[in-house]
Amino acid sequence: MDESALGNRDKRGFWRPNKKLNYGPVLVWPFKVWVFLKWLFGYPGFIFPWNAGYVAITVIAWFYLTPSIETMSTLSIDWMALVFLRNVALTIIIVSAWYFFLYMKKTQSTEFKYNKRWPQDNKSSIFMFKSQTLDSIFWTFASGVPIWTLYETLMLWLYSSGKIPWIDASMHPIWFVVLMFLTPVIHEIHFYFAHRLTHVKFLYKWVHYLHHRYTNPEPWSGIAMHPVEHMIYFAGIWIFALIPSHPMHMMFIAIRLGVAPSQGHTGFDKIVTGKDSAVDIGIYNHYLHHKYFEVNYSDGIIPLDKIFGSFHDGSLEADKKMQKRLDTYNLGNEFN
Ligand SMILES: [Zn+2]
Ligand SMILES: [Zn+2]
Repeated sequence: MDESALGNRDKRGFWRPNKKLNYGPVLVWPFKVWVFLKWLFGYPGFIFPWNAGYVAITVIAWFYLTPSIETMSTLSIDWMALVFLRNVALTIIIVSAWYFFLYMKKTQSTEFKYNKRWPQDNKSSIFMFKSQTLDSIFWTFASGVPIWTLYETLMLWLYSSGKIPWIDASMHPIWFVVLMFLTPVIHEIHFYFAHRLTHVKFLYKWVHYLHHRYTNPEPWSGIAMHPVEHMIYFAGIWIFALIPSHPMHMMFIAIRLGVAPSQGHTGFDKIVTGKDSAVDIGIYNHYLHHKYFEVNYSDGIIPLDKIFGSFHDGSLEADKKMQKRLDTYNLGNEFN
């Protein structure tokens, strides 16, 4: 599918979709049931294809790639290491899949890519090994996956040893399903506030700046962050210690936090699926955050940015408003 049918590329090589960004029809008045149901069950929508995919990964990980309850009821490095290897494997498989097709095989060239330039060509010394990709891989595995695994395994131990409530899906089927639907929302609310916190001057300067060096993001940029940011970012997992839940709910948020950012940082608006078809990746929100820094702290289910005045709808007019603020950030990276 030709990108010019759905957007415009400017002289500098930046593509923008014609359609302005908006939120899911959740907190709107008057509430329109049909619009909501279409958004919930439509394609692409809230469930399909992305959340359904992450739930499927969670179910497989819980039934086939998680130690038994009996084993997990005692803290031990042996089973925690197995969960770590499972998370490493999940990360490699999912992030590499995005990277392999879009950035190595370049299956759709720069079609629907927001920034025409390829991060592989950027040899800036702001990156370790003068490579954005190697730099991102380093932070992902040196700190991201270990902190994710530490939080997840401690939670699995708390559930298995009866220290926090574990709800049985067969006894509370409605709550089980409702909480599954709410988990992406809980993720988003935590992400919004955690993310805003890392934009406080001191934390930005010493911690969050690291992730913001990726102004032209690619799949490996997803959880490439400073270790202190990983501690704040993955803390969303702990929310489930306070809510009566099943370990699968906690694993759903953990997997979303761990591997979904590779989707959020693909740098492409859509995947071309045929001559006349393309599927929305749903990441324009976060791409704009990487481009303009002080906008779109959340990912777009509920209008938190609109409520707190940091929403950028992707339009030229919104761009102009942001330009002044952008000038206050100096990254020392001329590439983007
Ligand atoms: Zn990011
Ligand atoms: Zn940020």
